[in-house]
Amino acid sequence: MATQTHCPYCSLQCGMRLSRRGRDTVVGTWDEFPVNEGAMCRKGWTSVDLLRHRERLTTPLVRDPDTGELRAANWDEALGIVADRIATIQAEHGRDAVAVFGGGGLTNEKAYTLGKFARACLGTSMVDYNGRWCMSSAASASVRSFGVDRGLPFPLADVEQTDVLLLVGSNLAETMPPAARHLDRLRERGGTVVVVDPRRTATAARADLHVQPVPGTDLALAQGLLHAVVAGGWVDQEYVDRRTVGFEAVRRSAMSWWPELTERVTGVVASQVRDLARLLGEADRVVVLTARGAEQHAQGSDTVLAWINLALALGQCGRPYSGYGCLTGQGNGQGGREHGQKADQLPGYRSIEDPAAREHVAAVWGVEPDALPGKGRSAYELLDALGTQDGARALLVLGSNIVVSAPNANHVTQRLDALDLLVVADVVMSETAARADVVLPVTQWAEETGTMTNLEGRVILRRKAVEPPEGVRSDLDVLAGLAERLGSPVALETEPEAVFAELARASAGGPADYAGIDYDRLTAEHDVFWPCPDPDHPGTERMFLDRFATPDGRARFHVVTHRGPAEQPCEAYPLHLTTGRVLAQYQSGAQTRRVRDLDDTGPFVELHPLVAGRIGVDHGEPVRVTTRRGTMQAPARVVDTARPDTVFVPFHWVGANLLTNDALDPASRMPEFKVCAASVSAVSAPAAASSEGGALPTIRPRFARPPARPATAAALAEGNGKWAETAGRAPRNVSSLPTSAAEGAS
Ligand code: SF4
Repeated sequence: MATQTHCPYCSLQCGMRLSRRGRDTVVGTWDEFPVNEGAMCRKGWTSVDLLRHRERLTTPLVRDPDTGELRAANWDEALGIVADRIATIQAEHGRDAVAVFGGGGLTNEKAYTLGKFARACLGTSMVDYNGRWCMSSAASASVRSFGVDRGLPFPLADVEQTDVLLLVGSNLAETMPPAARHLDRLRERGGTVVVVDPRRTATAARADLHVQPVPGTDLALAQGLLHAVVAGGWVDQEYVDRRTVGFEAVRRSAMSWWPELTERVTGVVASQVRDLARLLGEADRVVVLTARGAEQHAQGSDTVLAWINLALALGQCGRPYSGYGCLTGQGNGQGGREHGQKADQLPGYRSIEDPAAREHVAAVWGVEPDALPGKGRSAYELLDALGTQDGARALLVLGSNIVVSAPNANHVTQRLDALDLLVVADVVMSETAARADVVLPVTQWAEETGTMTNLEGRVILRRKAVEPPEGVRSDLDVLAGLAERLGSPVALETEPEAVFAELARASAGGPADYAGIDYDRLTAEHDVFWPCPDPDHPGTERMFLDRFATPDGRARFHVVTHRGPAEQPCEAYPLHLTTGRVLAQYQSGAQTRRVRDLDDTGPFVELHPLVAGRIGVDHGEPVRVTTRRGTMQAPARVVDTARPDTVFVPFHWVGANLLTNDALDPASRMPEFKVCAASVSAVSAPAAASSEGGALPTIRPRFARPPARPATAAALAEGNGKWAETAGRAPRNVSSLPTSAAEGAS
C-alpha cells in the first residue's frame, strides 16, 4: 500500500508515493498531483536515502564539560538540562535572553508551535527564522504593492498560458526541474521565455532571450525597461487609472533611466533594453517572476518593487495568466512565513504590532494580549547580537543549519560560540549541531504528518509513510516537553491534526486565512489554496482578479531608487562574487550532501576564461576567493557562461558564506547574499575540492562556570555531574561524535 506524500525539499513540494519493498522504502510517482504530474528531480527520487541513513541521530547528546565532547543522554536528562538552563538565563537576564530560530522547511504545525512556544511559553520577542534570508524582500514588496504576500498569486501552470514569461534571478531548471516543463510548453505554444541573470544558467540556456546584467543592477534594469515602456506608449493607462495608485510619481522617477544610461549601469546594451520593452509592451499577457537572484540584496525589496511597478504599468497584475509572482525557495517557505515564527508576525500573517491581531491570537492561546511580547529582531540581527550585552545568551534552533547558511558565517559562528547555551534539534549532525551544547534528534519528513504550503499558496498534507527510528521525537514533542518543564502558562498540542485545527482558528480573519481547511478536506481534495475562510469556501486559486488586498482594493506603485550593491569592486577586490545552487544539492546541504546518489562535488569557483587567464589557472586547479570577511579555496571551473567581471560559488558547503556580505535591506532585513566585492588568485599548492576550503572557528566548550542559581545547579548536577569548570579545554573532534543509539549509548 503506497502512501501519497510530498518531497522533503523545495517549495514545489512535488507529490510522490512511498511504498515498502522488503525492508526498503521506495519512491514512486503520483501522476495525478497537478504540481509535478509525476515528474521529480533527482533529489526527490533519492530522498528516501535519508530515512535510514547511517549518520542519523537517534539519541539526545549533551556536551560533557570535562571532555568537551558530546555524549549520549536520555530525553529526560537532555530536556531537563535545556529547561533548567533556559530558566536560569531568563531569571538572570530577562525573557529576551533566550531566542529561538526556526526554518522554512518546518511544517506549518511546527512553525506555528515554535512561534507560540516563543511568545506564550518563553515570553521572548527573540524569534525569527532562516526564511528571512530567502523570501523577505519579495514578501515585503508584495505586501506594500498588493496588500498581501502570497508568493505566486496564481498556479505555476498559468505561465504556460501567458505570452511572455520574464524570469528575473531564477534558475528553476536546476532548482526545481519539474517546473521547467512549463517553460517548454509555453514555448511550444509560441510564447517567449526571457531570463535575466548574470550567469548563463541551465534556465537561461533554455530561454529565447538571455539578458545578462552586472550583479546588483536589476533595479536599474527594471527602471530602464519602464522608461522604454513609457516612451513606447505601452502603458495600460485605463488599467493604471482603474486599479492602481501612485503611477505618476513612478513614471517621473523612471524618466531619467533612458536605455543608454541603463546600459552604462547594468551592462545590458540599450538596443536590448528597447527590444525587451517592445516585447513586453506588445504582448497581451506577461508574467514577471522574481527569485533570489533579484531579491537577496541590500536593495532587494526595492528591486522587487521596481519589477512590480513594471508589471502594473503594463496592466498585468490581477488578470488571468498574467501578473507578478515570486518563486519561493524552501519547502515551506510560504507557510513558514505565515504562522508566527517571524519576528514581526502572529499566525495568519498578522502583524504582532496590530492590537486586534494580538487580541485574536491571545484569545486562541488563552493568554492576555499584554502578555505577548512585541516585535523582535530579524534573523541576522538576532544572530549578530548573540552573547553580547544586548543580545540573547541562549538559542534554540529547529530546522536550520546556520553555520553554513548565514552570511558572514565566520562572524555568526563566533556569535554562536559566545552563547551560554546552544540547543539544536536536527536529524543529522549538521555543522550547527556539531557546535551545540545539546543536540536533540528529531523526526523528519516521511516519519511524521504535517501540512506544507507550496510556492503557489497551495496547502498540502505531507503524510507519514514510515515509522521513525527508535529514540527520536518530533519537534512538536520537543517543544511541548520543554514547555511543560518550564511551567508554561499554555500547553502545546503534539498531534499535528490538533495543532493544525488550532492554527486554522488562529489564522481566521487574517491575510493568510486557513479557517476553512482541515485534514479531512486535504485528504479528500489533496490541496486547498489560501485564503480559505470557511469550510464551504473553495479556496483561492487566483488572487486579485477583482481587487487587491489593500484597503481601497487598488495596487500601489512605489518610487524606488537604484543604489547598487553595498560593496562595489575596487583595486583590492576587483570582481563581483555571486552565490547560488547546483542541481544535486539543496540549501545548506545537511541532507543532500549525505545522499549517496547525489553528486557531492564540493564547492567550486566558476570564473570566465579571461579571469582564469589573468590569474594563471586552468580548469580544475585550486583558486582562492577572498572578500573583506573571509577566504576560501576550491577548484576553478572555467566557463564562458560567467561574466568576465563576476565569479560564482555554490553555497551548499562551508565556504561561500564565509565570504558573503551581511549588509541588510532596510525594509526586509534580507542580507546581501547575491553580490559583494571579491578577489581571486591562484593557490600555489594543489587543494582538493572539499568543504575544508573554508575555515570556521574551532569549537570551544561552554559552561565554563557553574550556573549561579542553586536550584539549577542542583538540577544540572543531578542530570550530569560534570557540568562545571570546563574553561580552556581542547577543541573536540566532531567526527567522533556518536550518531546512533547503538554507537552513542554508554
Ligand atoms: S527537490 Fe523540489 S523539484 Fe525536486 S523533487 Fe523535490 S520538490 Fe520536486
